[in-house]
Amino acid sequence: MARYTKAVCKLCRREGEKLFLKGERCFSPKCALEKRAYAPGMHGNKQRFRRKQSDYSLQLREKQKARRIYGVFERQFRRYYRQALRRPGQTGQVLLQILERRLDNVVYRMGFAESRAQARQLVLHGHFDVNGRKTNIPSFLVKSGDQVAVRERSRKMEFFQTQKEQLEQKRLPGWLSTDHENMAGQVLTLPERGDIDISLNEQLIVEYYSR
Ligand code: SF4
Repeated sequence: MARYTKAVCKLCRREGEKLFLKGERCFSPKCALEKRAYAPGMHGNKQRFRRKQSDYSLQLREKQKARRIYGVFERQFRRYYRQALRRPGQTGQVLLQILERRLDNVVYRMGFAESRAQARQLVLHGHFDVNGRKTNIPSFLVKSGDQVAVRERSRKMEFFQTQKEQLEQKRLPGWLSTDHENMAGQVLTLPERGDIDISLNEQLIVEYYSR
């Protein structure tokens, strides 16, 4: 299964904003954007003085930003867009809802991992059950009412014990609930746009694919 393996801070620098891809570090002064708030590469610093961006460039950047936040490659992202087109509702919002429903995102949102990338790895390594069944597919889409839990044998791991202690301090979106003691959570309902605290203009993504 393909995944992005290069320096992720470059992705934030390219988009010119924090995408929070590295957990704790993103909130510390060590964040690369605190030191070099311009695009990577030889001419990155000069790009700050470039003329106004075209519509296409704005649409492309918004789409890339969404892909990078959720750690999804182009092919898969385009597939999600097609799924969103077929479903009722505003395409951009449905697209974001699909991305939020990914199991790796839900694990991250529930506070069992520091970042989506870490959540993806934990899921791949088989540390989670969905509705009592081992599920190791990060792109698995949860439904309303689904139960997500750290598998019983994984709960004793030092990593999960540390996560458990920190669960209370983590902010949980309204569409999810967690049971700290049992290291489990539930999808109460599917997320609406207001539940997704990501500064994205999903309409630009729709315009990008409708060209
Ligand atoms: Fe982005 Fe986090 Fe790296 Fe900062 S530390 S540049 S927010 S991934």
